[in-house]
Amino acid sequence: MLLNRDDWYDTSRDLDWELSYVDPKLAFPDEWSGAGNIPADAWQKWDEPFRVSFRDYVRIQREKEMGVKAVSNALSRAGLYEKLDPAHVAASHLHMGTTCMVEHMAVTMQARFCRFAPSTRWRNLGVFGMLDETRHTQLDMRFSHDLLKQEPRFDWAQKAFHTNEWGVLAVKNFFDDAMLNADCIEAALASSLTVEHGFTNIQFVALAADAMAAGDINWSNLLSSIQTDEARHAQQGFPTLEVLMEHDPQRAQTALDVAFWRATRLFQTLTGPAMDYYTPLDQRKMSFKEFMLEWIVNHHERILNDYGLKKPWYWDQFLVSLENGHHAMHIGTWYWRPTLFWKPNAGVSKDERDWLREKYPTWENNWGALWDEIIKNVNDDRIENTLPDTLPSLCNLTQLPLGSAFSRHELAEHSLEYKGRLYQFDSEISKWCFEQDPERYAGHQNFIDRFIDGQIVPADLAGGLLYMGLTPDVMGDDVYEYAWAKDYLPAETATA
Ligand code: MN
Ligand code: MN
Repeated sequence: MLLNRDDWYDTSRDLDWELSYVDPKLAFPDEWSGAGNIPADAWQKWDEPFRVSFRDYVRIQREKEMGVKAVSNALSRAGLYEKLDPAHVAASHLHMGTTCMVEHMAVTMQARFCRFAPSTRWRNLGVFGMLDETRHTQLDMRFSHDLLKQEPRFDWAQKAFHTNEWGVLAVKNFFDDAMLNADCIEAALASSLTVEHGFTNIQFVALAADAMAAGDINWSNLLSSIQTDEARHAQQGFPTLEVLMEHDPQRAQTALDVAFWRATRLFQTLTGPAMDYYTPLDQRKMSFKEFMLEWIVNHHERILNDYGLKKPWYWDQFLVSLENGHHAMHIGTWYWRPTLFWKPNAGVSKDERDWLREKYPTWENNWGALWDEIIKNVNDDRIENTLPDTLPSLCNLTQLPLGSAFSRHELAEHSLEYKGRLYQFDSEISKWCFEQDPERYAGHQNFIDRFIDGQIVPADLAGGLLYMGLTPDVMGDDVYEYAWAKDYLPAETATA
């Protein structure tokens, strides 16, 4: 008689034995496990609800793979990609060029769980997580490779692993912190709980819905398939938090507060512009802020509440940033468009502007005036005035421009000196994150530090573009070639 899974499952994953030839502290160093002073038997409580067996895992994943492949084969024959709106397509370039690399970093993180997590059950689940992330990396590679003949920008799915493009560096910096440079416990809180269980929903659920509405069924389907894995392996976060709350709640609070702010800033850069500016107006489901409030903010507040944690001390500032940060990042990336490997859509035609005003009551006052200046220059044939000839100062934590966390009216300086070096920050919050563990961040040079250090030659925008590997065939420019600005010409000129 075949046993039910519940009858054998616990035996199958309880694979620990008492080490006698080697000191457990050497086999599971604190630097890797992060267990520190938490007693070994505290991890007996670690459990997860998925209870998946290897056999089931392989069967289900095989079905998912066949589903994705069937859709992508059917669609590549239908020539769908050529019919997509170019502004929407930019969101998929941005996604592949920044996310494929992160999926691969996640393989390493999950591999660390498999080997060094302080609970045998966790190590078991990490195996599936590692296989998931391998699948995601391969899916992104295959998707991008299939489209390379249409668009050289998809090459960035692989190029991102090696480039010094500033946006990719910002993404890499965050995931170095949350995945590669994190012990198992930090990674479970920052990556599993905060990013995979929370923020990836904006990219993989909301953006998947927008992509579907835009007719990009292939990409939408890929995103949804990936998210089903994320939802499962993200479960490594909750039991870890539960153990930590009993033994070191302050550590949990700090780790989550740092991760939540850093993830906010990152998704303001990647997902905010894609949702509120690149997605064609009639295909938008929700604004970035609405989605954040419903899926991330409520959700995060609930976790904090359920586990007896406090809201981050910076909550009020976070809410102001939620209103502004991605608008700041959008106008900034559009202005510095030669430094991108995708073509941003300005997204401020009159209709789009009405939508922005409705969704963000402060938008006009904070951002409209800046766009008006750009529009005037475009319509007066002074495109050169809408292009940069310098680079912005960057934050030493987020790697994003100073002044991009709040509105254009909030430009207070935030800096500190550490071991004789001056560090700049985009906000009081980023400065606080740095202060929680200065050694973790202090050695890194942001793009501007490298400039000053003489690593980028010639030390001008052209040298910067060379250093970032931005060649003319992929360099960013306005995706509609400024056609949207004609909206603002006086009626007689517009028709002339
Ligand atoms: Mn993944
Ligand atoms: Mn993941």
